[in-house]
Amino acid sequence: MRQAWPEFRLDGKVALVTGGSRGIGRRLGLSFAEAGCAVMLAARDANPLTEVEKELRAVSSQVATLQCDVTHSDQVKALVDATVRRFGTIHILVNNAGILGPIGPTWENDAKQWEETIRVNLVGTYLCCREVLPVFLSRGSGKIINLAGGGAAFPWPRFSAYSASKAAVVRFTETLAAEVKDHHIQVNVMAPGANDTEMFRKAAEAEPRLLADLPGDTLKPARLACFLASEASDHITGRFIHVDQNWDEWTESDLAGDRFTLRRV
Ligand code: NAD
Repeated sequence: MRQAWPEFRLDGKVALVTGGSRGIGRRLGLSFAEAGCAVMLAARDANPLTEVEKELRAVSSQVATLQCDVTHSDQVKALVDATVRRFGTIHILVNNAGILGPIGPTWENDAKQWEETIRVNLVGTYLCCREVLPVFLSRGSGKIINLAGGGAAFPWPRFSAYSASKAAVVRFTETLAAEVKDHHIQVNVMAPGANDTEMFRKAAEAEPRLLADLPGDTLKPARLACFLASEASDHITGRFIHVDQNWDEWTESDLAGDRFTLRRV
């Protein structure tokens, strides 16, 4: 089977990827399947998921999909239970589901949409971690990959809900990583760079300068996700990693102190 990055094999592993119906999540599902991993893809909308499942089946028989809104704890529990029933366990969780939220001056944003952005991007990430962690803790290993985004490292005016939610996801990642460090569970957060997806196009309509950064595919985040899901990254946890950094060359000394984190003032 063709795999773009044979150095990051995931044979025998089971991954759960949220927001898998399109964009970056779809690409991660395909790349994990190519790497030999069983994959459960979840997303809020059922129809596009069915299409993606067909696509993945051309690569592997070890794939499944389930509709799940990550803001509902009962749906998240059902997703985790279904994944364990289907594949026996979970080794990798990717909290990719996300929304852009309201665009415009903060004081003009719709308050309900602002709150919903925090619920999907931050609370959804928390709920999935909370439900999957008992599986990881009982085995004594696991990988969590969260998704940061514009505004996590720098202010992004007119996207305040998105920025606040993603900065919080980074600090949540660092905190959780410290809590589970002694259980051989690694928790990292990736900044996937600019990728040509529905979310990106919506942001670019409001801010056309973003189009200048557009690489046109989702392969960089897929490669980083395969690395973070594989044993090659066992020495990395609690880090905020951009796709364009030379993360596959980092040594213990590169990772000393608070590098690749939300820096303290
Ligand atoms: P997208 O809009 O193309 O896809 C988002 C996915 O999340 C869809 O499958 C959608 O169904 C799902 N989703 C949304 N709300 C959900 C909910 N409540 N429950 C379950 N699933 C839900 O977005 P994308 O560009 O592929 O982004 C994926 C992730 O990467 C997001 O977290 C985003 O913030 C982050 N990101 C993207 C870019 C980019 O350039 N595209 C840049 C930085 C960060």
